[in-house]
Amino acid sequence: MIGVIWDDRFLEITFSHPMIRDISKQRLRKFWELIKEEPEVLFIKPEIADENELKLIHTEEYIQKLKEASEDQYIGFLDSGDTVHYPGMFNDLLLIVGSSNTAIKYSRFLDKIYIPIGGFHHAFPNSAMGFCPINDIAITVRKLQNGNEKRRIAIVDVDAHHGNGLQYILYSDPILKINIFAYDGKFFPGTGKIEERGSGKGYGYNFNVPLPLGTADDGFEEALKILDILYTYKPEYLLVLAGVDGHKEDSLKSLDLSLNSFNLLGYKISRISSDLKAKVISYGGGGYGEYSSLCMLEFIRGLKGIREEKDEKTENTDKEKNYQIQKIVNSLLESLPSSFEQR
Ligand SMILES: [Zn+2]
Repeated sequence: MIGVIWDDRFLEITFSHPMIRDISKQRLRKFWELIKEEPEVLFIKPEIADENELKLIHTEEYIQKLKEASEDQYIGFLDSGDTVHYPGMFNDLLLIVGSSNTAIKYSRFLDKIYIPIGGFHHAFPNSAMGFCPINDIAITVRKLQNGNEKRRIAIVDVDAHHGNGLQYILYSDPILKINIFAYDGKFFPGTGKIEERGSGKGYGYNFNVPLPLGTADDGFEEALKILDILYTYKPEYLLVLAGVDGHKEDSLKSLDLSLNSFNLLGYKISRISSDLKAKVISYGGGGYGEYSSLCMLEFIRGLKGIREEKDEKTENTDKEKNYQIQKIVNSLLESLPSSFEQR
């Protein structure tokens, strides 16, 4: 059984650029049609968060800016031209934060919960970026920590784009962060070097696995071997951003993944979390294509323990790319901080 946080309001929420707003909305509509038919799913209605919870991460000035933008009668941008605001947006933000709150509450009874909307990993404390007005996962981390920074929380952020805001906010927190994303130094947002390992108490806890553009299923499978770190870290909570914009048909094309990769990601998370008895809260992340909703469903089926290959597996013609990924993963696996073991 898997819990899916759902409110019909999700069908109207997107902060994407006007060019891909329709695709974003379609994605959730199709997802709803598919997930309704899926067995062993418990739908859970999210609560509305208190606006003070935004202060766990965001500055008062920025929260004020969000409120004012929400009162604006027109659609506009919160940043220099990516992230959209619209009338009444602020209530939707509270619904998004409330979704994580509800997920935390239900995680007492359910091992795996999925929130189809959310995983806004580009947002910073005082600014929006890349279709992300607030950083919901960072807020969730602070709620789970509740002042106890030793709480064993791990983040697995898999998306075509590096989770720059999330990495920045949690950079000096001693909680495990694994990021897998497309990278060539220029592709949005351009961050995510292997050498970015965290700072202060968080040094050694940040792991970036940059994938060369065009990486296919076989390279992605190599990258997922980094998840073995979880066995050493042994999280109590595993927050997974399962973005689907790495699909080969995505309109922001960067990777060459088939449906199989998203199933494999869900399946691996399912196995690891069962082995470690970790609670999973997962997020829909990015995805701007015709197949996005199918990718989401494949991830969920994987999370339920179903391993399937519905698509023809994609392969890198340039095997050097896979070798490169293998080398990165191996070098990172050899560089675990000793404090991992002392927990
Ligand atoms: Zn993305």
